[in-house]
Amino acid sequence: MPDVQVRESLQRARQRLADALESAGRPADDACLLAVSKTKSADLIREAHACRQRDFGENYLQEALDKQSELADLTDIVWHFIGPLQSNKTRDVAENFAWVHSIDRAKIARRLSEQRPAALGPLNVCLQVNVSGEESKSGVAPADLDALAAEVVALPNLRLRGLMAIPAPAEDMATQRRPLARLRQLRDTLRERYPQAPLDTLSMGMSDDLEAAILEGATLVRLGTAIFGARAPRP
Ligand SMILES: *Cc1c(COP(=O)(O)O)cnc(C)c1O
Repeated sequence: MPDVQVRESLQRARQRLADALESAGRPADDACLLAVSKTKSADLIREAHACRQRDFGENYLQEALDKQSELADLTDIVWHFIGPLQSNKTRDVAENFAWVHSIDRAKIARRLSEQRPAALGPLNVCLQVNVSGEESKSGVAPADLDALAAEVVALPNLRLRGLMAIPAPAEDMATQRRPLARLRQLRDTLRERYPQAPLDTLSMGMSDDLEAAILEGATLVRLGTAIFGARAPRP
């Protein structure tokens, strides 16, 4: 049964992104939409794919692998791993994803590079930065970012595409923009230091702060709720 709701909310999300880019004075193709499908069924992903969505983000490895095998016939899906990553899970991620957004330590990066199958080409990676400075949040501290970037740039099977952040939620646009602006500055600094890396990606902006993120230069926004609806709490 076709899911009218996914089609409509995807349409609305695309319009929202287009409006945000226009308000920011940026070209219409300057940012892309990552559909965050964690906890959502393979059928909903298939429906979004039928509406030309190709990039999907998953947080939980086993859940993602199950959906990937269910959707193996959709060979043009681009899978992004965006969740916390433990070192005993790196092989499956290296073998089954095109992107990883959540690298926050060198050990994980080294393992991903070692375990990346040569036939797949380099794995696209973003470093996750803790721009809100909360103890509990994952991500590398800004002070440690340069050392991590130096290691990642030197790894043969990773391609350092940029930075990712999940800032603390904030109500007003000005408060939302501060950590996002910080992430952009950190990315710009890395770009000067590591001209050999692409560093073309700012993975920031979710359902509640997409407009702020686009104003601050996001190139890839990660939308879950806005596309697939609210998620049930995980047991
Ligand atoms: C869940 C999740 C999102 C999507 O969040 P929404 O608020 O539902 O749009 C984006 N990025 C990451 C890393 C997530 O875990």
